[in-house]
Amino acid sequence: MFRVYACITQQHDLRLVVLAGLICLLASYTAFSLAGRAVEASRRLRFAWIITAAVASGSGVWATHFIAMLAFQPDLPVTYAIDRTILSILIAVLISGLGLAVAMSPWRATRVLGGLIIGAGIGAMHYTGMSAVHLSGALIYDPTLATASLVIGMAMAAVATTIGFAGHSHFRRVAGALLLTIAICGLHFTGMAAVHILPDSAVAVPGEAIAPFWLATAVTAVTVLILGLGLVGSTVDEHLTSRSRLEATRLRASERRFRQLADATFEGIIIHVDGEIVDANQAMCRLLDQPIDWLIGRQVTEIVAPGGHDMIRRRMTEQNLEMQEIDLRYGDRGSIPVEIFAQTIDYGKGTARVVAVRDIRERRAAEAKIRYMAHHDALTGLPNRSLFHDRLDQAVAFARRNGVAVTVLCLDLDRFKTVNDLTGHTGGDLLLKQVADRLRSSVRDHDTVARLSGDEFAVIQLGAAAVDSASVLAERLVKTMALPFDLDGQQMVIGTSIGLALFPGDAESGEDLVRAADTALYRAKSAGRGTYRFFEADMDARLQERRLLERDLRQALAVSQFELYYQPLVGCGTDDILGFEALVRWRHPERGLVSPVEFIPVAEECGLIMPLGEWVMRTACAEAAGWQNDKRIAVNLSPVQFRHVDLAKQILTILGQTGLSPSRLELEITEGVLMEETERTLATLGTLKAAGVSVSLDDFGTGYSSLSYLQRFAFDKIKIDRSFIWEMERNADSMAIVRSVIALGRSLRITVIAEGVETAAQLALLQDENCDQVQGFLLGRPMPARELADLVTAAAE
Ligand code: C2E
Ligand code: CA
Ligand code: CA
Repeated sequence: MFRVYACITQQHDLRLVVLAGLICLLASYTAFSLAGRAVEASRRLRFAWIITAAVASGSGVWATHFIAMLAFQPDLPVTYAIDRTILSILIAVLISGLGLAVAMSPWRATRVLGGLIIGAGIGAMHYTGMSAVHLSGALIYDPTLATASLVIGMAMAAVATTIGFAGHSHFRRVAGALLLTIAICGLHFTGMAAVHILPDSAVAVPGEAIAPFWLATAVTAVTVLILGLGLVGSTVDEHLTSRSRLEATRLRASERRFRQLADATFEGIIIHVDGEIVDANQAMCRLLDQPIDWLIGRQVTEIVAPGGHDMIRRRMTEQNLEMQEIDLRYGDRGSIPVEIFAQTIDYGKGTARVVAVRDIRERRAAEAKIRYMAHHDALTGLPNRSLFHDRLDQAVAFARRNGVAVTVLCLDLDRFKTVNDLTGHTGGDLLLKQVADRLRSSVRDHDTVARLSGDEFAVIQLGAAAVDSASVLAERLVKTMALPFDLDGQQMVIGTSIGLALFPGDAESGEDLVRAADTALYRAKSAGRGTYRFFEADMDARLQERRLLERDLRQALAVSQFELYYQPLVGCGTDDILGFEALVRWRHPERGLVSPVEFIPVAEECGLIMPLGEWVMRTACAEAAGWQNDKRIAVNLSPVQFRHVDLAKQILTILGQTGLSPSRLELEITEGVLMEETERTLATLGTLKAAGVSVSLDDFGTGYSSLSYLQRFAFDKIKIDRSFIWEMERNADSMAIVRSVIALGRSLRITVIAEGVETAAQLALLQDENCDQVQGFLLGRPMPARELADLVTAAAE
């Protein structure tokens, strides 16, 4: 230490030493400033800043050394070899540049390494510079001090970089600069203290041209200029950078705000440049269920269903502000219907498109629901009338193009109103649902089943080539509908009538086809229900006729066109007239006498059976009451009459008014009466029976022929249907039935009567079987009341 101190104080011009120290400090500070710029600069500019820092620090270090050398005043004249001097500058620049580049890393170890490199560079520069010194003598180094100089230089430089590069603060930069100054000066002056000069006059030295002071001034001026420029450059750059950093921060903040805003919206947002997605918000990621990284860099067309590609490409450029609906789709995921709205924005140096994407799945679902509701029956879920007609028109158009057939089946439930009255609307609804299910499961998938109204249904069968396959379906439907329905534990039997019409053939349009099927349905109902009918060309005419009949029928009652005929009921074998069956006749002004077979169903259909039935009852009772004997009168009752009126009360009233004894009245009912509203019907019949009226089961053997009815109600008489009597002679089965019914009646103590007896042979057979009573043309035709008078009187005699 003392040697160094002594060296500085005794062998140096102190003014120049101070100058060297200041230059060194300036150089160190500049080096740190420029290196700081390099740290912050973009990659492109970093190298330029490192070179600048290397030049500044290298030349500063060298200038320090050189001025310090000028301050060194041995007693001998000194000169410098140009080449070595230049070499020393280059070494200073290169190695300190390298050191700075290494030291500006964020890791402490490399900062230390960089400092060591810088220290070594200073050392290399110093000793190269020393080797350029020429004087009349030899320079001898003290190895200890020389080594110490290197150790001090490298160690202090390492401390300088470790502290100076640890952060960006001005304080660290100043501290680093001071420490580096100590490193440089420490190395230099320790190195100088290591020097001994052995004067040797044999060594020639070129003459000195420039005084050390002026040389020092010149070097100082140039160095200060270099350093000053570097410092100014670094300061300006720092200022600019910090401003741009401020702007960048502000920009980032606004970007962040924008992103938050974008993410907060429910709508998906994507930004694309020429179709390539460059950004998207969270809603968009959620919509596609993909992370943002997946989206960015993708083509817009990759997330749009192929159908929308053309539109997307078109809309990429045009300033169209209209909403547009498209489907999003990618991979094999389902499609998402969306509404998009695009706009061009400035983006970087060019433009981009911002596309707002609104998920319209819910809206579509709501629309679909509304559409569905508009076209379907809410109760059964079946297509309604409007959808049915749409489908039918389509089917007809298809059939016309492809030369296939279309069949329309119109269905009408047979006893629906009864079920509805009995079980209330809940039961009716339940029934309709079950009917819908049965219909649906009876047709093929591409057939349409629709509910047209109340209990009216229809089926479109497409491609049913022939009448055959249509009738197979109709038959199947009639059968399944005849099976009992379970309405919450209550068994109900209904049934259906079906009318069928075919395209081509019966009609040319869907609408006409339905009309034709309706006509056929009417016929099916007239034919006794529970059956089907195909449309026939003359049906329309017959329907027309039927309508006229209905119209005339309404007037007939008012103008007394009805008459009652009476047919005798005779004791089998005795030939005694026991009573008469009242049979209604209609004397039509143009048609003449119309058969009840023709007009009773019409009267039932249009409700006229009620007043007509009442008229028949009143007339028959009044007639019989006028007879001089106690012969019975049989009156037919329609099932419909049981439906609406308090029939028992009506009949008992008539009996009271006409004065006919209830024991002389026989009511003829068919099984059909008991099929409907069994309990109520049984109650009505029970009341009448209790009043003394008898009840006969008419047309026995036709229809359902369920013996359970015989068990449930105590009939007084069974009428074997005339069809069995007619076939009895030729058909063994019919004979067997007649025989067993007679036997059954006997065992149950029920009178049995055979109707429709036309021949003596039939009568003989019935007598053989001990049938109780007979009725038929053989024994007496139905006759008007005036003809009856003689017969009744005669019988009474
Ligand atoms: P029904 O109750 O079975 O009446 C018997 C039918 O058989 C009557 O036909 C009668 O004229 C007919 N007939 C009787 N003996 C013979 C015979 O030996 N040979 C043939 N071929 N026919 C015979 P009608 O009078 O034409 O009545 C037909 C049906 O109309 C009746 O069948 C009945 O169901 C209904 N009907 C008639 N009058 C009334 C009525 O006042 N009220 C109701 N609700 N129905 C009635
Ligand atoms: Ca009858
Ligand atoms: Ca009968």
